[in-house]
Parts: sequence; structure tokens; C-alpha cells
Amino acid sequence: MKASSSDTVKKIFSQYLEKKGQRKTPERFAILEEVYSYNDHFDVDSLYLMMQNKKYQVSRATIYNTIELLLECNLVTKHQFGGNIARFEKAFECLRHDHLICNICGSVTEFCDPRMKEIQNMAAELMDFDISSHALYFYGVCKNCKDKLKAAEEGTTEPENNTNE
Ligand SMILES: [Zn+2]
Ligand SMILES: [Zn+2]
Repeated sequence: MKASSSDTVKKIFSQYLEKKGQRKTPERFAILEEVYSYNDHFDVDSLYLMMQNKKYQVSRATIYNTIELLLECNLVTKHQFGGNIARFEKAFECLRHDHLICNICGSVTEFCDPRMKEIQNMAAELMDFDISSHALYFYGVCKNCKDKLKAAEEGTTEPENNTNE
């Protein structure tokens, strides 16, 4: 992350904590930093492990509590990609994107299409609705899994596989 946006993100968080009468602990800022240095989706457990590997002394409870605060001030986005584990990603100055989720391996792929913005603007205008955010998830089968399925199918259609019937 660029130094300037790192400062901005810290400032936003700091102001939010002040407004909410929450303590500005070094742990909370370390978590913010870790979240913003990471370029993918993560869950609380993987963030906890990443921080442990870097020898940060933060508890899971502190991570949960800090993520809640980051969600409230819109510095983090929450996703439910299927299954019941919530995943998160940084939200500040990130390109608006949507997600394709594979039902087989659970992989998450991002895609970005500027037409999404047009659709949003049109819906807002048509319905006279102030849109603050949107969520769009496509579920299906990724290329990797399709290739594997195809290979498996081709493998089982070989005649010599029918010997133990
Ligand atoms: Zn897959
Ligand atoms: Zn994403």
C-alpha cells in the first residue's frame, strides 16, 4: 500500500475510534496494518495465524472486535462466499469488484466490470433510491474444477474400467 493511503486509512480509523469512545490500542492498528498489507480475502483464523507468524501478540477476541470496528467504519468488507465462515477484505481505495465462487473447491475469483456502475446508477435513478453499497456473487464451477471433472470423465469412459462389474 502507498504510504499516503496507509496514513489516510489510519486517520479514518483513529477518528472513528475517537468518535465511538474506543481506545486506540497498538493492537488495533497492527490489525489494520495487517489487513491492508494483505491482497486477498481472509477469515479471522487465517488473519490470526498471519499475525502469530509475525510475532504479534493479539488474541482472536481482539481480532474479532477490531474487524467489527473496521466494518462499521467501512474500511473492511464482509463476504459470505458460501459455507458459514465469514471472509473479509480491505475496502479503502480498492477497485470495485464482484466475485465468482466455485461450488466445488470454494475458490473465489474477482472480476471488475464498469457496467456494474451503470446498472447501479440506473437503478438508483429509476427508483429514486440512494444506494450505499452492493453485493453480487456468481456461484458455479471454476475452470480448474471443470478441467478436473472433464479429465475424470474421460478416464472412466475407457472400456477397461468396466472389468469389476
Ligand atoms: Zn473450483
Ligand atoms: Zn474481493
